[in-house]
Amino acid sequence: MRDYVAELMGEVKAKNPAEPEFHQAVQEVVDSLSVVLEQHPEYRHEKILQRIIEPERVIMFRVPWRDDQGNLHVNRGFRIQMNSAIGPYKGGMRFHPTVNLSILKFLAFEQVFKNALTTLPMGGAKGGSDFDPKGKTDFEVMRFCQAFMCELFRHIGPDTDVPAGDIGVGAREIGFMFGMYKRLKNEFTGVMTGKGLTWGGSVIRPEATGYGAVYFAEEMLKTRKEDLKGKIALVSGSGNVAQYTVEKLNSLGAKPVTLSDSTGFIYDEDGITREKLAFVMELKNVRRGRISEYADKFKGTVFTPVDPTLDHNPLWNTKAQCAFPSATQNEINEKDADNLLKNGVYVVSEGANMPTTIEGVHRFLQAGILYGPGKAANAGGVATSGLEMAQNSMRISWTREEVDARLYKIMKSIHAVCDRTAEKYGTPGNYVNGANIASFLKVANAMMDQGLV
Ligand code: NDP
Repeated sequence: MRDYVAELMGEVKAKNPAEPEFHQAVQEVVDSLSVVLEQHPEYRHEKILQRIIEPERVIMFRVPWRDDQGNLHVNRGFRIQMNSAIGPYKGGMRFHPTVNLSILKFLAFEQVFKNALTTLPMGGAKGGSDFDPKGKTDFEVMRFCQAFMCELFRHIGPDTDVPAGDIGVGAREIGFMFGMYKRLKNEFTGVMTGKGLTWGGSVIRPEATGYGAVYFAEEMLKTRKEDLKGKIALVSGSGNVAQYTVEKLNSLGAKPVTLSDSTGFIYDEDGITREKLAFVMELKNVRRGRISEYADKFKGTVFTPVDPTLDHNPLWNTKAQCAFPSATQNEINEKDADNLLKNGVYVVSEGANMPTTIEGVHRFLQAGILYGPGKAANAGGVATSGLEMAQNSMRISWTREEVDARLYKIMKSIHAVCDRTAEKYGTPGNYVNGANIASFLKVANAMMDQGLV
């Protein structure tokens, strides 16, 4: 099976050159699947993996728009419709200058497996643009979003493909895009998730990814008869996922002590309390400022700027028991993983997508810590998007308590299926194998049922 996997990876690299993030995401999944491919030759005969790796459709388009000074800009827009075996395409949109085909294909690939774990009927997709919302006025962001939707609208729909937010795409951007879709199609449908509460959005959707990552950590800790109470937690990022991770950690009695953005990180030994978090939310969501302002505001807090000459991130070299990477891909390398282990971290629950390099993941698995990979630990966001779609279809709204209870139940079930599957396939406690195998089986079996498509 080693030869089969090596040959497959050779093909992936040859067919998709210059896409290192995509290669990494595929490698991580196929590494988990050897035992399944051994036991089920039918998946090899039917070339299920080769088919899963190839997107069903890649849409790439130009997005011309004008800034407030009348200057013209041309950005690139994408939508990767990866797999629709178990439901309409579903996945976020990312607006960030680093966005390219490799990053969106890795995210779309991960999304297929993540969505399969949620228990809801959703296929996988991802999209976005190399547009940078940072430093743009609201009018500029609106003009960009409208120009973007002028092309995207013909490829999406409530039963076809339902985009949501991701890095750089929050409530403001979803609103602008939804407004333009509605105008172009002359219909009010649940074509996007993360909508405002008065126009089809679901309560708890903004909170869901962060809350879910914390629920997943609690479930992992339960297997050792422990909980989060009194534990010190490192959180990276300071956007949507990081903010609600901090909120839930506080409510479960843990002490979050760090937050970051692309300029550096803050360390607050006394803990980022509810009141301090309210400051961060205003800083990041309203004023769109830098995290260093936190250290100016709260005495005793240290801000450490990013040092590009370092081979590690000092945020991960801090004493703690838990870590919640919630910024971006590959933010924990093997040195960072070693530092985390050295500092006493034994619970890692990934709010971000693929925040740990393959070498870093191996360190965590070798150390036998509680390591929840993103496709399982951060699935609460898309799961609650699925709940938003269900409410839109039924034209009803559930209460906060109802949605939170469903989210909690889904995270518990994702944990249970990963745990059970890892055990069944001979690697107890390995949530990477558990998540990859359980989700692969679901998607692969659906594809087998549907014939050669
Ligand atoms: P936001 O845009 O709200 O926040 C992103 C945060 O990460 C910001 O603090 C940003 O800092 C930081 N960041 C982004 N890129 C980089 C970079 N290259 N280097 C350093 N810092 C960076 O995004 P989200 O919170 O929504 O997303 C965070 C992660 O969670 C992503 O990996 C996303 O794919 C994942 N995720 C999100 C879900 C959701 O529901 N939103 C669902 C599942 C996963 P700065 O502002 O300085 O750029």
